[in-house]
Amino acid sequence: MSKMEEIQKICLNRGIIFPTAEIYSTISGFFDYGPVGTLLKRKFIDYWREIFVKNEDNILEMEGSIILPEKVFEASGHLKSFVDPITQCLKCKSIQRADDLIQEKTGKFVEGKSVKELTEIINNEKIKCPRCGSPLGEVKLFNLMLKTDISPVGGQTAYLRPETAQNIFTSFQRLFRVARSKLPFGVAQVGRSFRNEISPRHFIIRVREFNQVEIEMFYDPQNAGCKKFDEVKDKKIVILTREAQKKNSKPLTMTAEELLKKKIVPSEWLIYFMAKEFEFYKSLGIPEDCLRFREMLKEEIPHYSIGNYDLEINFEFGWKETVGNSIRTDHDLKNHMENSGQNMIVTTEDNRKIIAWVAEPSFGIDRTIAGILLHCFVEDKQRGWNWFKFPVKITPYPVAVFPLLNKDDIPEKAREVYNMLKKEFDVLYDDSGSIGRRYARTDEVGTIFSVTIDYDSLENDTCTVRHRDTTKQVRVKIKDLISIIKKLINEEIEFEKVGTLLK
Ligand code: AMP
Repeated sequence: MSKMEEIQKICLNRGIIFPTAEIYSTISGFFDYGPVGTLLKRKFIDYWREIFVKNEDNILEMEGSIILPEKVFEASGHLKSFVDPITQCLKCKSIQRADDLIQEKTGKFVEGKSVKELTEIINNEKIKCPRCGSPLGEVKLFNLMLKTDISPVGGQTAYLRPETAQNIFTSFQRLFRVARSKLPFGVAQVGRSFRNEISPRHFIIRVREFNQVEIEMFYDPQNAGCKKFDEVKDKKIVILTREAQKKNSKPLTMTAEELLKKKIVPSEWLIYFMAKEFEFYKSLGIPEDCLRFREMLKEEIPHYSIGNYDLEINFEFGWKETVGNSIRTDHDLKNHMENSGQNMIVTTEDNRKIIAWVAEPSFGIDRTIAGILLHCFVEDKQRGWNWFKFPVKITPYPVAVFPLLNKDDIPEKAREVYNMLKKEFDVLYDDSGSIGRRYARTDEVGTIFSVTIDYDSLENDTCTVRHRDTTKQVRVKIKDLISIIKKLINEEIEFEKVGTLLK
């Protein structure tokens, strides 16, 4: 069993993430988050907000509608260009994504090729239906947006948004006013997006309904500096440039300043975000050698962008884009202005009339969670169970409370401690099975501090705390527990120094 399969098994058994409506034969590409998964996702979002919104002084947030009228996507170009090439088996009628199938069968990278070229490759390479081995039909384009109709009598076509960004562009002028009519400013949005993927796969990595968090950073292209660039200029990132991909050479390690000076990424704002992303993903427990940026090849770039630099995570099956960083220029605002007839022009401080340019980091939350699950997973033969080494910021339940025995007033005392801790943290209470089994269960969901209430607790108001990573235990006063755990979470104190270390 691969590591990811093992993780999926734990996700199912522990109700972390599981297929949607699985009592019926499910449609692939939809997943529900259970109690632990929901907390993990929520904490990831909170942590993300702390770094990318609260730490900035010119990034606002909004929450837009998921369903948007057809006109929005006519203007944005999604109606015409948000398409994948598909081919259908002439016999069993199963549908395949043509470019993926060709790559799988021949190793050839064919993104950006026309439907005619793809059909020719399929014929020349004699690629057959992977399901039944029969010939495949002509390659056609398939729009990935999910369509709906709003009016009861029909005729009002709308789409489930394929990205959160369009709400921000269509409301640009209102948001600009909230930002005191000054560039640069950014708008962030956490929300759902939908893409009718032809072959959803790899657990939550390619799904049809997913969670994104995007920032649209609006700036004046003639005054495109990022004031806080100095804060990141010495930060190192790893990038696989176009040139390196063509020569089949290794990614380069560079500072943010070098990226800017060598004009590898032609946007100071985008480099600023990229440098922050690299640090942020490392802090999520993903090792540096499993992270890289990849400059998209010309033929891969989406219709709205002049340059894309994806943050990729190394999964078991290979590298996968997890954050898309694009220079969207004035594409969206300009097209919305032309299509809606509404003004998107703003006046700069030096009185020029411009359409703002946009640098966009677009984070896939589910894909990030898959990366966290994979890279925080510890296969531990010594303990006899596997567990998640989630960083303290995002661990679903940082604290657990166990009564050593279910008798002699110990459960009452344990409940008292649990109720006290619950006011401050997300806490698990577990009173079934041996203490060893309980440690195993809490390790499995990444709980860091396990508090046990025993006979000594009744006598002297102390308890033991075990640390997930080292399994070391300390004895501390119950009245100090909250402040100790807070300090441990904020990494202000070493675990072994918070109380008496037990041998
Ligand atoms: P894109 O707009 O294609 O650059 O997507 C932005 C981010 O959304 C990607 O980097 C992914 O993390 C995420 N994403 C896109 N499509 C999917 C999908 N089908 N399933 C899960 N995440 C996705």
